[in-house]
Amino acid sequence: MASVLVLNATYEPLSVVSVRRAIVLLLKEKAELLEATEERIRASNLSLPYPLVIRLVYYVRVPRRMFVPLTRRALLARDNYTCQYCGFSGNSSELTMDHVLPKVQGGKTTWDNVACACRACNSRKGGKTLQEARMTLARKPARPQFLAFVVLSNASAHEVWGKYIPDMGQIGAPTSASVISRG
Ligand SMILES: [Zn+2]
Repeated sequence: MASVLVLNATYEPLSVVSVRRAIVLLLKEKAELLEATEERIRASNLSLPYPLVIRLVYYVRVPRRMFVPLTRRALLARDNYTCQYCGFSGNSSELTMDHVLPKVQGGKTTWDNVACACRACNSRKGGKTLQEARMTLARKPARPQFLAFVVLSNASAHEVWGKYIPDMGQIGAPTSASVISRG
């Protein structure tokens, strides 16, 4: 499903929503259209440009910590598709979500308790803690910052988003880890 970048009234990137949600915001005049494709969406008696970037009409106060959904893909992106135990760099089929404190020992699936691991390290660590497995992490896992999340959504991100996300051009996918650790 394609995504639409939502900017705050101040033009700062705020979130990423579905095309459907973006259209609702536009129709309710809660947002204005900034970027669209040539394509048009036809629904019943409506014909609308296919939105890429919208801007909220009213300013939304941004919470200091925005919620970043934890998915396997977001985790792999946070960890730069690199095993946090041995440094192996692979694709999504070669990497797994490892629980630092294993689930069997009460570990939760939270940003600060998961790390990207290759299959070998994942099975070597198994249900053990770091100490028990005598393994170390490349860095302490933490929740990624919001801007990073926008970048993590890259698969559905459109090039034009880069105009509104100042760092996106320099970030690119391979170095996204540097963004995440910021701030
Ligand atoms: Zn590994």
